Amino acid sequence: MKNDKGSLDDKKYFDLGLKHKYLYFRRTKIVATIGPSSSSPETLKQLILKGLNVARINFSHGRPEDHLRTIQSIRKISAQLGMPVAILGDLCGPKIRVGRFQNDAVLLKDKTLVTITVDPVLGHETLIPCQYKKLVTEVKLNDHILLDDGNLELLVVGKARGMVQARVSRGGVLRNNKGMNLPDTKLNIPALTAKDRKDVVFCIQGGVDYIALSFVRQAGDILELKKLLRRRKADIGVIAKIEKPEALENIQAIIAAADGIMIARGDLGVELPAKKVPFVQDKLIETCIEHRKPVIVATQMLESMIEHSRPTRAEVTDVSAACLSGADAVMLSGETASGKYPVEALETMDAILRETESYRFFARAGMFRDPVPNRRSGVQDAVSSAIAQLSRDLMVHCIVVVTRSGHTAQVISADRPAAPLIVLIQSEQVLRRLQLLWGTVPLLVSSRLAVDKRIAFAEAYMKGLNLAHSGDYLLMVRGIGDKKADTQSIVIHQIS
Ligand code: PGA
Ligand code: MN
Repeated sequence: MKNDKGSLDDKKYFDLGLKHKYLYFRRTKIVATIGPSSSSPETLKQLILKGLNVARINFSHGRPEDHLRTIQSIRKISAQLGMPVAILGDLCGPKIRVGRFQNDAVLLKDKTLVTITVDPVLGHETLIPCQYKKLVTEVKLNDHILLDDGNLELLVVGKARGMVQARVSRGGVLRNNKGMNLPDTKLNIPALTAKDRKDVVFCIQGGVDYIALSFVRQAGDILELKKLLRRRKADIGVIAKIEKPEALENIQAIIAAADGIMIARGDLGVELPAKKVPFVQDKLIETCIEHRKPVIVATQMLESMIEHSRPTRAEVTDVSAACLSGADAVMLSGETASGKYPVEALETMDAILRETESYRFFARAGMFRDPVPNRRSGVQDAVSSAIAQLSRDLMVHCIVVVTRSGHTAQVISADRPAAPLIVLIQSEQVLRRLQLLWGTVPLLVSSRLAVDKRIAFAEAYMKGLNLAHSGDYLLMVRGIGDKKADTQSIVIHQIS
């Protein structure tokens, strides 16, 4: 009969306290792409009820007028439910595509020579039209050209008469308008295409909370979008989608310029050897946490759920791994946009995250992720890490944060404390934006509450949910956003 302490603890870790009051709020956020499978009012309602935090609208597909209607529908349902969600408009960016073919598809045979033209002609077995006009001048000898998400691969062997000659190194069927990735080529394509600029106007009209820019290569790409938003007086967060090797070379500046990043593993895994994606993901999450900026892990997370009502074991492990690495959010793409089981996919994601967080919470006494090694050490960082430490040492039930811009909540969230952040804010816009951040529970308060009222408010909120009782601790934080050290304070409050 084995009943030593070790096995008791082991049992505790695997028979997890999911209903535990410390774990009522899921810390890792869920982004789901809204598309044909999920844009009906009933499905949107289900997704929001089941825990959707951020709705992603993908401008690579569909018509902008329809997207605008979807945005309005999300806003309406979320208001009816009293459950705020952020909206993320995702711009197509400078994605390069092939043109059209006779009979809509061609078979490219291994080792054959093909010609790529930028003329708008109908392609065939050895002629591939490309929509990017500057391809011929920018592509170099021995560059790789990947087609259809990397399923097909070409190697450039020559250029002549305004065309590119390439050898097929991995053949297959190529259909109309499939994507083309050029990982080795320095492209001079603008970061914001004419279509993107139009879509930005739709995003502003719809009042989205974040805009994501695809195929970011340098910080300047982000600044260009920010300039456009400023000109139109739109206060919208900008997410840099990391999906090109070039972006990794400029990653510090990109993260500093952006309001967050998305690890866009779909294209990233085409442009980089797929085997590098896991540790690039790990490093990107760490770097974002260092910068105290939110990070989303995206693409193929529960891919098989497009067709099936249950995920594969490998997918479950992938979602769990992103959670353990400390991502702010994980994302559903085709699973919710065009799959057969959008609501089940969201429920599955929620369940995996909760199970993983619970494991981590009990196994490491509230240490949700390992501390990042390169944390800078200003007053703000010191105070924030002290809060995280206190949250674990006292097993506090919540951290009350009062913030105008959301900045204080963003700082503390990045230390991944043991307790949820009850963030009291007055602006609905700031509140929605905080939905993307790890561990935040943003609540709208009607006026600027006095210090004792803030604690009373949070205490009543926690008691109302039966999450805290007399004798329990909570923390309150003030003035972390201020530059002056003497305005910052941490209040330890014990519920009487
Ligand atoms: P996409 O971006 O779905 O817009 O291509 C995500 C990715 O590439 O992973
Ligand atoms: Mn992409």
